[in-house]
Amino acid sequence: MSMSDMGNANSQVRSGEPLYEVRNLTKVFATRSSAIGGKPLIVRAVNDVTFDIKHGEVLGLVGESGCGKTTTGRLLIRLLDPTSGSIVYGGQDIAAISPRQMRALRKDMQIIFQDPFSSLNPRMTCMDIIAEPLILHTKMSRVERREKAYELLRYVGLPREYALRFPHEFSGGQRQRIGIARALSIDPKFIVCDEPVSALDVSVQSQVLNLIQKLRQDRQLTLLFIAHGLNVVKYISDRVGVMYLGSLLELADSDAIYAKPLHPYTQSLISAIPDVDGMGGRGRALLQGEIPSPTNMPSGCPFHTRCSRKQELCESEKPKLREVEAGHSVACHLV
Ligand code: SF4
Repeated sequence: MSMSDMGNANSQVRSGEPLYEVRNLTKVFATRSSAIGGKPLIVRAVNDVTFDIKHGEVLGLVGESGCGKTTTGRLLIRLLDPTSGSIVYGGQDIAAISPRQMRALRKDMQIIFQDPFSSLNPRMTCMDIIAEPLILHTKMSRVERREKAYELLRYVGLPREYALRFPHEFSGGQRQRIGIARALSIDPKFIVCDEPVSALDVSVQSQVLNLIQKLRQDRQLTLLFIAHGLNVVKYISDRVGVMYLGSLLELADSDAIYAKPLHPYTQSLISAIPDVDGMGGRGRALLQGEIPSPTNMPSGCPFHTRCSRKQELCESEKPKLREVEAGHSVACHLV
């Protein structure tokens, strides 16, 4: 099957309808206390998060380290089990199904990891890495798997003769291309891109972003694109969600987030970008203070310890994410 045929495989997507409907998703981890004999510390990594991902869209998810964006991505493909809430994928709540039922859906969902240096098995050749999901999820013969691996290598821009090389023989950008080829091998419908360029040199970041943009267009994939900063997701996302301490604070079309950020935290993130469409840093509050420990979450609004517009209510009552303009939702008492 050619790459164009593979692209057509997903051409029946119902653009605009939700592929995912995530409701009140929560993930709690218990970590060991630093004090001897102390109680386990509770981390609410994802805290009552609700959003949809439409068929064929790229949803960007941004926030500082520890905000819950990576955990959210892993919950969506059930690499982690949720503590509560629902994850409706294609009409089925995958938060509630058995591991066996989940195995059948697994080939629809793939992940591209942040670190291309540790995410590839160092003892496997490039070809075996790309073909491994085909062994797990298809009945392809060895020859068919090899042909498919060559085809994917070509698609991600790597020469055929690299097929028998090992991961240590590639640069970071090339390894990430191998990771992308592997993710594409079983023709998924949905891919979590977990900070796929943050470990790469700036000079190769745009090449990998271009490749992700291309595969999205060729194959009409639905992507969750996780990034630390808003500058990366602006390039690639249709909509953007902003997370902070496990909560979703703002969700809007990409253009609206940059042109008219409504949440004080998003405004601070935009201000931190040197120049976004000429708006960077213009009169907006810069982010103050440190992010609180996720083991000691603030009461009320999770952002109140750093917010210059904080009111009394903010310390006691957590604002709900609500739609304030068409397609633009914000969790702030003042908006
Ligand atoms: Fe700031 Fe209050 Fe809005 Fe939270 S709810 S962002 S503390 S104004």
